[in-house]
Amino acid sequence: MIQRTKTRGVMIGTVKVGDYAPIVVQSMCDTHTSDIDATVKQIHDLTRSGCDVIRVAVDSKKDIEALAEIRRQIKIPLIADIQFNYKMAIECAPYVEKFRVNPGHLNHMEKSKPLGAKLDEIVAAAKAHGNAIRIGINTGSLDEEIKAKHGLTPAGMVESALQYIDMFEKRGFDRLIISLKDSHLQNAVEAYKLFAQRSPYPTHLGVTEAGPTAEGIVKSTIAMTDLIRAGVGDTIRISLTTYDKTEEVRAGHTMLQELGVSKAARYFVSCPSCSRVESKRFQDMAKLVDAITRNVAEPITIAVMGCSVNGPGESEDADVGVWCGATSVRLLRQGTELGVFPYEGVIPKMLEAVNGVLTAKFGKTYAWGEIPAWVPDPKPAGAAAAATAVGAASAPAGRG
Ligand code: SF4
Repeated sequence: MIQRTKTRGVMIGTVKVGDYAPIVVQSMCDTHTSDIDATVKQIHDLTRSGCDVIRVAVDSKKDIEALAEIRRQIKIPLIADIQFNYKMAIECAPYVEKFRVNPGHLNHMEKSKPLGAKLDEIVAAAKAHGNAIRIGINTGSLDEEIKAKHGLTPAGMVESALQYIDMFEKRGFDRLIISLKDSHLQNAVEAYKLFAQRSPYPTHLGVTEAGPTAEGIVKSTIAMTDLIRAGVGDTIRISLTTYDKTEEVRAGHTMLQELGVSKAARYFVSCPSCSRVESKRFQDMAKLVDAITRNVAEPITIAVMGCSVNGPGESEDADVGVWCGATSVRLLRQGTELGVFPYEGVIPKMLEAVNGVLTAKFGKTYAWGEIPAWVPDPKPAGAAAAATAVGAASAPAGRG
């Protein structure tokens, strides 16, 4: 059982971070923020995948002008990511719930103006509009004094964070969330652990420049698992180099679920597939059912299995499970067989069964919306014809 560290609760709009609130999963758009339609569409896709709060880059006047309309069209809290121009934090404050700044980067503009004077203006705007602020610390932007004293070390990152926190607190502001990033994974992990011992502020976990999907998920999971098991971390982003940003959110929720610290949610089981799969439509089906039921917030298990080796056992154990044959699919609800259906008709039957379980257990049903068109079976006709229908063969029913 993971014991989470108590941190100060900070509201990002309606979403609470810290103080034992469920760990918040976030992502960042890769659309141009000034392209309102594309950004809103991506945020809607991410919201459907379970994204709790969303960050967008703000680099220009046009980006700021787009924020009000984006805010109007989305349901989850909006975060502005500010790089060098502190004035943008002030200008976007009315339209977002939170912004991220790295005080170490705020000296790039109006160099003669002291950091304190810039923070005065940022804090005034955040107080006026109820924003939270993430202080993003990065080893690459530590100031000279800290570098001279600590070098580019976890201790240096923590010292830097504490100094900036002090500057915000002296201005009467404490709606702060902290991140500590280093491209060396172990340094970042050590910094977060050290910070948690020295400060009550909630932390945003993220691995910088984690890489493409497979590499990024592995690196993030290694670092975050270590931290979350140590009780550290209040909000996470799995950063991936991918066109499909929903992968970040799905990976985040899956990691939290497997660590036993997620909000109650659907548990999805599907086998990895192997040469025993008799129809490639199994993979399509697993993807479709996963996508359609991803928003189910109740703890039910849904299984989609590829053949009669492990299929019967997993399907029986699930609340709703199927296992696939060459031309048909066997559907079970809590261990009871509901029938054998052709691929083309099984998904609506499966969703009906899911709603049946949800009604019985939680008094709730979901409207699934339009089921996407079935992708044709790419397997050559001869191979499919040679395969057997579900249950027709004397296939073993054990667990392989
Ligand atoms: S359930 Fe069947 S198809 Fe899926 S991995 Fe196991 S043996 Fe292969």
